[in-house]
Amino acid sequence: MKRLTILGSTGSIGVSTLDIVAAHRDRFEVVALTAGNNLDLLKQQIETFRPKLVSVLTSERAAELDRMLTGYKPEIHHGVAGLIAAATTGETEMVVAAIVGAAGLVPTAAAIKAGKDIALANKETLVTAGRLIMDLVQEKRVRLYPVDSEHSAVFQSLEGQSRKDVKRIILTASGGPFLNLPLDRLAQVSISDALNHPNWSMGQKITIDSATMMNKGLEVIEARWLFDTPVEQVDVNIHPQSIIHSMVEYVDGCVMAQLGVPDMKAPIAYALTYPERISSGVKPLDLTELSGLSFFRPDYRRFPALKLAYRSLADGESMPAVMNAANEVAVEAFLKGKIGFIDIAVSIERTMDAHSPHTLSSIDEVLSVDLWARNKSRELLGIA
Ligand code: NAD
Ligand code: MG
Repeated sequence: MKRLTILGSTGSIGVSTLDIVAAHRDRFEVVALTAGNNLDLLKQQIETFRPKLVSVLTSERAAELDRMLTGYKPEIHHGVAGLIAAATTGETEMVVAAIVGAAGLVPTAAAIKAGKDIALANKETLVTAGRLIMDLVQEKRVRLYPVDSEHSAVFQSLEGQSRKDVKRIILTASGGPFLNLPLDRLAQVSISDALNHPNWSMGQKITIDSATMMNKGLEVIEARWLFDTPVEQVDVNIHPQSIIHSMVEYVDGCVMAQLGVPDMKAPIAYALTYPERISSGVKPLDLTELSGLSFFRPDYRRFPALKLAYRSLADGESMPAVMNAANEVAVEAFLKGKIGFIDIAVSIERTMDAHSPHTLSSIDEVLSVDLWARNKSRELLGIA
């Protein structure tokens, strides 16, 4: 039995993780769950999986959940302290980090400090604090498994190989809903156009990140830290069919790739049971049904956010955290109809231009950089 905490259990990754757990009840036990606002779904999850501890955003939400639960009742916590309690609780062996945004950083870091293995969906943890987190992983001797499909593909393509033989990591990107839209129409796209991802069904924030390709930018940074690879060796290819989930090129010219139907349950299952494989509920891949696989280079005029991500790594250690925070503010503003689609990358760049990058010595310092960038970006956008 592997005992799990799932941070963000009501989200897209959280729900897929619990689907896998439900199909393999003999392998997994759920010790703790955390959720944001969806108390109805959390209630169902509590009744099905009977965790010992749960956590929600606020004390009001905790009281509401307490009233809603008429049968089995776990300990109910709230706030950041509640997230940390869920992440560090004694019985848990592995924490599935599936909160969205920089809010995932503190509980994920706490889990590592408490010696828990991590199944990492929350890429923002490595974007904002990559070196600090990887140092902590080494110090605490925990295992950090990628859930992000591209990084799972790279991880699988590195199995049994020597890192010194790696020439290049090639992350694939779908290109999102606006890949072929005439450039002069990008300024007018609507929120629902941007939320309409061609291949993947995901939470709102990452879906917008996929449309701007900031998601791929965050993933370049994630790969840089996860695989300890110089960023010059991390490339992006657009591959609209999302069948090849990423590749590793070796010095002898051989390229290893991982293929499959685009469904997050495959990389989630692999992170949960590595090095074993279990049935994940993912449909089999039938290559004969595909009309073709295509690949091309991203155009930075269409996807300036991807270029900003490379720039942020070159600028200095605090810059990716600034970029990430500015992106979170801009995406939220876009989703609320306060700014247009192309304003997202423009406002991120302006926030980055206002920052003097420096090294980061602690997670607390990352949090203060994150806060500074949120305030600066709101100020530049003229929003409260
Ligand atoms: P989502 O929005 O569907 O779910 C996010 C979860 O986090 C929810 O349970 C929500 O209640 C909780 N949450 C949100 N803000 C919180 C806060 N401030 N404090 C505590 N809990 C909070 O997101 P998702 O699509 O499942 O993505 C989760 C993470 O996984 C993101 O970092 C994303 O980049 C990454 N990821 C997702 C996918 C995917 O297919 N959805 C693929 C790869 C990586
Ligand atoms: Mg991904």
